[in-house]
Amino acid sequence: MKFYSTNNTDLRVGFKEAVFNSMPQDKGLYMPVSIPILDDKFINNLDQYTLPEIAFHVAQNLLGDDIPADDLKAIIHDAINFYAPIEKLEDNVYVLELFHGPSLAFKDFGARFMSRIMGYFLEEGEKQLDVLVATSGDTGGAVALGFLGVPNTRVTILYPKGKVSQIQELQLTTNGQNIRAVEVDGTFDDCQALVKQAFTDEDLNKKFRLTSANSINIARLIPQTFYYFNGYAQLLKAGINKVVFAVPSGNFGNIGAGLLAWKMGLPVEQFIAATNANDTVPEFLKTGVYQPKPSVATLSNAMDVGNPSNWVRIADMFKDDANGLKDLVTGFRYDDDETLEAVKAVSDQYNYVVCPHTAIAWKALKAYQQNHSAPDTAGVFLSTAHPCKFPDVFIKEIADKVDTPPQVADLSKKQKQAVSLGKDFEGFKGYLLNNV
Ligand SMILES: *Cc1c(COP(=O)(O)O)cnc(C)c1O
Repeated sequence: MKFYSTNNTDLRVGFKEAVFNSMPQDKGLYMPVSIPILDDKFINNLDQYTLPEIAFHVAQNLLGDDIPADDLKAIIHDAINFYAPIEKLEDNVYVLELFHGPSLAFKDFGARFMSRIMGYFLEEGEKQLDVLVATSGDTGGAVALGFLGVPNTRVTILYPKGKVSQIQELQLTTNGQNIRAVEVDGTFDDCQALVKQAFTDEDLNKKFRLTSANSINIARLIPQTFYYFNGYAQLLKAGINKVVFAVPSGNFGNIGAGLLAWKMGLPVEQFIAATNANDTVPEFLKTGVYQPKPSVATLSNAMDVGNPSNWVRIADMFKDDANGLKDLVTGFRYDDDETLEAVKAVSDQYNYVVCPHTAIAWKALKAYQQNHSAPDTAGVFLSTAHPCKFPDVFIKEIADKVDTPPQVADLSKKQKQAVSLGKDFEGFKGYLLNNV
């Protein structure tokens, strides 16, 4: 499969180049030149397959012969080695739990697949790959654990001091090996600015082979389609073949992958884009005007994005069908008070605890269902992170219900190892150059 830039469909590169570059020079994003449609026999019999089998079939159709079948199979079995179960909470309300990977967030799907693809394409004798990544919390943990031990790679994670939860910080700072953490005395935006400047710095580019691991990378998008197919497979097993998905959205990679799955033939009735106060997309769906704005801080901070970078991919998929997009996607936005109410309502109604991001998707699903009564359609909201990653948002009564999964049970015994830096670029550059 070749990939084009959303800014220039004549520019075409192979999968390897798209993965290592992340972004074309023209600052578009890579998309497959044609989106394959999976045959009905596969779709209608999805319940016969396991998650890795589904993942392999979907990836092979998307990638063509870029990776030989046996190698792709091995990559998928290694990367997608955890479950994504659907749980029923009440009639027509289901949760798709995407937090059973090593970092307890759905970003494990993208980060684990991407790290293994990069490891696979790195040929012997090639220069070490230096991955720089800024995180507001979840990306860092997924990328760190995704790349941990992948030969010939090194990851440098920048995170804002005091602004990530304790579990998130321990996930970033206790790995050792090829992972190092930099605690920046500043905000997430400062961290991101440092990373961006590093990519354009001549000295650093001469010395290192730099790459980014953020959600614009096509190798993070592709594996996120897998769990939509697998979610549908689990509904088929329960005799249900109509579904709406509600997706907690920030950079719109997750829902973008859902829409890609739909384009590949997954029969989804409706997608619900659920955001916090950063409501650029719900506003667009309402008014038709796409007006990015500066991000505002909320309790669901992994969704604090005012200008979602994956939106251009969605716009690209629907460039000939703007009305189709409006028919298929509904937007809802909720502020922090409503988020806390939703966390409490879910806890009270189902004795089930959701993270603040997930709570927003639940509330959006319920709002949508109020106006669209469809007894034969399952409403599925995506749970993007385990609630234990966000302990500070819960009142005690709810916090007491949150379990500690084995992935993080021993974290507090480990020693934090991070370098503390200011937000000035020279300091960061000096650190990189002095720690080869
Ligand atoms: C990253 C993240 C999101 C937002 O996902 P996008 O793909 O950026 O829309 C939502 N919830 C959690 C917990 C996340 O970590």
